Amino acid sequence: MINITKIFIDKKTEDEVKKVLLSGFLAQGERVKELERQLCDINRTKYAAVVNSGTAALHTALASLGLKKGDEVITTPFSFIATANTILMCNAKPVFVDIKEGTFNIDPDLIEAKISKKTKAILTVDLYGLSCDYEKIRRIARKHNLKVISDSCQAIGASYMKKPIAKWVDVACFSFYATKNIMMGEGGALVTDNNEIYEFARRFRQHGQDQEKPYIYHHIGYNYRSTDVLASIGLAQIGNLKQWTEKRNQNARRLVTKLKNIPGLVLPESTDGTAHAYHQFTVRITGDFPIKRAELIKYLLENGVRSAVYYPSVIPMQPHIKKITPYKKGMYPVAETLSNQVLSLPVHPFLKNSEIDLMVSLIKKAAK
Ligand SMILES: *Cc1c(COP(=O)(O)O)cnc(C)c1O
Repeated sequence: MINITKIFIDKKTEDEVKKVLLSGFLAQGERVKELERQLCDINRTKYAAVVNSGTAALHTALASLGLKKGDEVITTPFSFIATANTILMCNAKPVFVDIKEGTFNIDPDLIEAKISKKTKAILTVDLYGLSCDYEKIRRIARKHNLKVISDSCQAIGASYMKKPIAKWVDVACFSFYATKNIMMGEGGALVTDNNEIYEFARRFRQHGQDQEKPYIYHHIGYNYRSTDVLASIGLAQIGNLKQWTEKRNQNARRLVTKLKNIPGLVLPESTDGTAHAYHQFTVRITGDFPIKRAELIKYLLENGVRSAVYYPSVIPMQPHIKKITPYKKGMYPVAETLSNQVLSLPVHPFLKNSEIDLMVSLIKKAAK
């Protein structure tokens, strides 16, 4: 079976984990600190705070802005639910802006129309590992005095105009969930050049505790700490980031070259100035394709290839979101259309060329 992800655990990972286990220090300590140093290097930021999930990173980043009930955060309707749920965790209101067809990401040209007196931030998502158009987004944010937080949970290693995404935003959030490009089983981090956001994050992951004075608490917080055991997995992984990202790009290029010119199959675009992390290789199956998306998924599966739909619906139609922001079909036409067309194919760095070629030949057969 050709799977959509492959979990990589080598001897080095085992050894690193074992070392921590035998050290007897299992909670947040030196290994977490080392992972934070490496995250600063990769993202060229001053600060990094490791937490125990991407969701925790997003919640922390949003909470650092001091959002109050009624404040609004502009975001995309086409993402994992955590993007919107973490806005709700801060009692703020998500305001959705439709996406751009070619990039699957928030359409910068539609943002300004949704800005109100209550808007405090823009929460972008670099979906599938492709950076948003941060030049435009940053210009809008500066003009309206808004903070920009990126949900880069799928985009570690990606860049925009030769700079890591983190350099374009106030704070960037990553996930190290088991299937992400760099993983710890469960895990996350936020990176920033902003000292106040960083200091807030360190308190917030530990019940709001003062960093110098134990048992003095400045504000509400959570237990969002990670552990040295998990950080040792992350450290064993992160050394491979460059090589794995390059392999994902090679695989994507092979797929693009071989899947060109199939009617009804739209290939992902790499936009100018971006370096894609290819967390997912996502095509669109449009009405011109001879069979339906669901039939193609079934056909591929029957022939040993797993594919997946990220995401089958838009966030604003979820029952709990609808209660906060009324939703009618057609409000986010691009995202709604694409949610019915997207299909992610395996692109992970452990694919063999022969496996890619098998996928290609199956898709070509299905397209006849
Ligand atoms: C994975 C992911 C998250 C959440 O990360 P967890 O580590 O599972 O909490 C948030 N947003 C996006 C876009 C993701 O892909």
